[in-house]
Amino acid sequence: MYRMLALLLLAACTATEPETPSSDRASVAMVADVELSDGQWQADLMLPMEAQAVLFDRALGTRAERWALLTEGASLQNIGGFDAVTSDRPLTELSFRVLPHTEPIRQDYTPFIPFSDGSAALFTGQFGLLSAENVAAIEAMGGDLSRSQGVQFPLLTRITADRPMVTTDGVIEPGRTYETEGGTFVYVGGIEPFESGNLTLVTDPGLPPWLTDDLDTALAKVFDAHTEGWGRRLADGALLFLAFRGAEKDGFSSQGSVAGRVLGASLSGRSLLRPNPAIRDYLTWFYAHEAAHLYQNDAGTPVSNAPEAWMHEGAASYLANRITEELSPGHGGFRQSQDKSAANCAETLSESDGVTIDGGGGTYQIAYDCGAVIAEITDLLTPMRLEAFWTEAGEAYGRTKPFTTEAFFGALETAGAREEGIAALRGFITQPQPDAADAIADLYSVAEGIR
Ligand SMILES: [Zn+2]
Repeated sequence: MYRMLALLLLAACTATEPETPSSDRASVAMVADVELSDGQWQADLMLPMEAQAVLFDRALGTRAERWALLTEGASLQNIGGFDAVTSDRPLTELSFRVLPHTEPIRQDYTPFIPFSDGSAALFTGQFGLLSAENVAAIEAMGGDLSRSQGVQFPLLTRITADRPMVTTDGVIEPGRTYETEGGTFVYVGGIEPFESGNLTLVTDPGLPPWLTDDLDTALAKVFDAHTEGWGRRLADGALLFLAFRGAEKDGFSSQGSVAGRVLGASLSGRSLLRPNPAIRDYLTWFYAHEAAHLYQNDAGTPVSNAPEAWMHEGAASYLANRITEELSPGHGGFRQSQDKSAANCAETLSESDGVTIDGGGGTYQIAYDCGAVIAEITDLLTPMRLEAFWTEAGEAYGRTKPFTTEAFFGALETAGAREEGIAALRGFITQPQPDAADAIADLYSVAEGIR
């Protein structure tokens, strides 16, 4: 059981804000006209200005084999890890026949979350483009989106389908066009949405009944616990897509991605075929963790880029540990979950340069494990609940500028944390920790001493 749970934690969830290019942002949007007709997706992308070359800024490297570029004189290819389109003349409009990419991508959104009846929730952000000067400029980026010198186009997606859609703006009838900005999930298909309180659920009919029979009650408890902790309800409710990827593989796996107030999640594995109390308990944690991201977004809590994902992932895991103890005592309890995170954090951290994703040698798991420890220390150091700390930090910094590690220390000070505690946390976060287990023990003793 431990192995199984460890496995699925690895695949638990997506950073809410994947890497942001440092490039200029155009003020006029590009438009993606996306159409589903007779099971075939087509995307027509219109740029607000001419570009010599463009590259997609999400789901990198997934298109060259799956999308067919229909625009004459232009070619779609993988250049240095990017899906890039180059042309012998300036580009303004591109047409693609799209074969959906349905596999989860590390630290990014799944472009199409597949449901077992053949329908899908699509992530609109997959159509976003960046301009580039030429092929050499793309190669010079070395696979790092943040090194782009081009222009990032704001994205307006217009989806038309011969099937109904479920969106944050309600159900869209077949043949009608739905418009949305930026990146969000839109479900396209025939599954009827289910309303429960201020949650709208689209649940895969292929999921075993023991997972769905009391799902609305289980989710209501998770959301009620968050509402109490955050001191506020989700202002506009949430939209949840829960897909079943089948039972072909052994064990059990879950993935979730949150965009705005939408959660796209999927479950898979043979262990789901029979009622399993350990999985049920784990799913309470999974829903509580993902719901935490919805509340973070709703409260304007800073969501950092991948290198500092410990901020939002750690807080979400810490809050999920607390809620799961209350709702599913069989999961192991708050202290046990936090101690396990601390042990995992110590092991990874002692062999890496720091708690950031870069420092962790590219392993995203460090954001959950060390993040949960940092979240608990933060909670101990500040006089308010962790939810209130992050809400205040969000109000102070907003989302217009990146919320950095330094901004986090500033927010701790504003929240009334004592200098000694901030210094201890600063050392832990910003310096390598070859003796990470001792460092974590020191952190707790400083935080508990101050308390
Ligand atoms: Zn998460």
